[in-house]
Amino acid sequence: MTSIGFVGLGNMGGHMARNLVAAGHRLKVFDLVAELNESITGADAQESGAAAARDVDVFVSMLPAGKHVASLYLADDGVLAACGADTLLIDCSTIDPATARQVSQAAADKGLAMLDAPVSGGTAGAEAGTLTFIVGGGAPALERARPVLQVMGGTIFHAGENGAGQIAKICNNMLLAIQMTGTAEALALGVKNGLDPVVLSDIMQQSSGGNWALNVYNPYPGVMEGVPASRGYEGGFLVDLMTKDLGLAMTTAEDSLSSVPMGALAKNLYRVHQQFHDAGGLDFSSIQLLYDPQLRDR
Ligand code: NAD
Repeated sequence: MTSIGFVGLGNMGGHMARNLVAAGHRLKVFDLVAELNESITGADAQESGAAAARDVDVFVSMLPAGKHVASLYLADDGVLAACGADTLLIDCSTIDPATARQVSQAAADKGLAMLDAPVSGGTAGAEAGTLTFIVGGGAPALERARPVLQVMGGTIFHAGENGAGQIAKICNNMLLAIQMTGTAEALALGVKNGLDPVVLSDIMQQSSGGNWALNVYNPYPGVMEGVPASRGYEGGFLVDLMTKDLGLAMTTAEDSLSSVPMGALAKNLYRVHQQFHDAGGLDFSSIQLLYDPQLRDR
């Protein structure tokens, strides 16, 4: 049994914390939202993030963005000030690589090992304990973290040093957004020219246009059972989160003087969709509505 501090009990973190309790670990938990703070049966609710970091072997955070992570760890009364010298720190949030490096450097300055370990797999993967972890940080720290990460997900990649986990996650999600917008565009073109989206999807899946968005997560309503497109784009991976991740990709590109014209276009399409269609709370495959607005009323 490992003693674990866990902060951020939202859509992802709540499930992850529950899986750690179910695996027999002793958890101290904290969330700013009072009812979430009491929501993990069998865990010891704390009054602050720093309290959750005191006297634990491992500390895990799952927060919205870089500013939340920086303040949780770096504040005068934050996690780095509160945790013991042997505590292993793991941030699973998706944040900008610069903040990930800044916080892990501040941890290293205090002799503490830290990993950035953003996840893929969504809320369903968090609940089922089947997340993929994309880890940045030292190999010895990853080996210490592995038994804890394995409770929450079976697939663990080591991307490189601190910040590399965030960069890999951002690259993946930028590619996913490009694939999804391209898939929606091709389907809309075919339908506008008289094709049945089921027939067109079948043809493209088995031709060179096949890709994950088309084959597994089809954005056109009624083509595929069990995907968000066939339930009014409810649930899944929200446009708000995809837009946030595309923003991280743009910042990362700017910081490294990289050209990302396809990613920039995808980001702008998602921003238009989010703001002018009030679509932030829909699944990201709802980008189909940008090409076929009448589908919203079906
Ligand atoms: P969420 O907003 O549901 O949960 C975040 C929680 O953090 C909230 O409950 C909030 O109250 C809490 N919080 C914020 N600042 C805090 C602080 N200083 N101390 C304590 N609690 C604090 O978000 P989520 O969907 O669980 O996502 C968390 C992270 O995982 C994000 O970075 C997101 O991009 C990433 N992610 C989400 C998904 C998904 O499908 N939801 C998939 C992969 C990755």
